[in-house]
Amino acid sequence: MSSSDCIFCKIVAGDIPCRSIYEDDWLLSFYDIHPVTPIHALVIPKQHLTSLDDLAGTDRSLAGVLLERTAFIARQLGIASSGYRTIVNTGSDGGQEVAHLHLHLLGGGRVGPMVARHP
Ligand code: 5GP
Ligand code: ZN
Repeated sequence: MSSSDCIFCKIVAGDIPCRSIYEDDWLLSFYDIHPVTPIHALVIPKQHLTSLDDLAGTDRSLAGVLLERTAFIARQLGIASSGYRTIVNTGSDGGQEVAHLHLHLLGGGRVGPMVARHP
């Protein structure tokens, strides 16, 4: 299911271009358009979920895949041994700007103090 006015659903559909990093049946990963660290990737489910708050019991497999694949992508990007930060912003107090669940993968240099936001 996709949401017609969702930027990330449009990226999944190929209607908006992205610098793709990884894709499988469940997930898509691409570089953030406004990186805050030398490597700043996003990992999103292809299915439209508005936020982490949308995850239900039936999505447990998806949640597991999201984390495990993020670790895989970090290894592929060569930042696993130096380390990285993963962030999921949820809702307005969490600083979520795009209403499609996504995980930030930040690395390639020392990530600043919590919480990294667009400087
Ligand atoms: P949020 O604040 O919702 O956690 O993060 C949304 C992220 O999506 C931001 O870091 C922003 O730079 C990124 N973003 C927004 N629109 C686009 C886009 O069209 N393409 C890409 N690659 N990233 C986007
Ligand atoms: Zn969406």
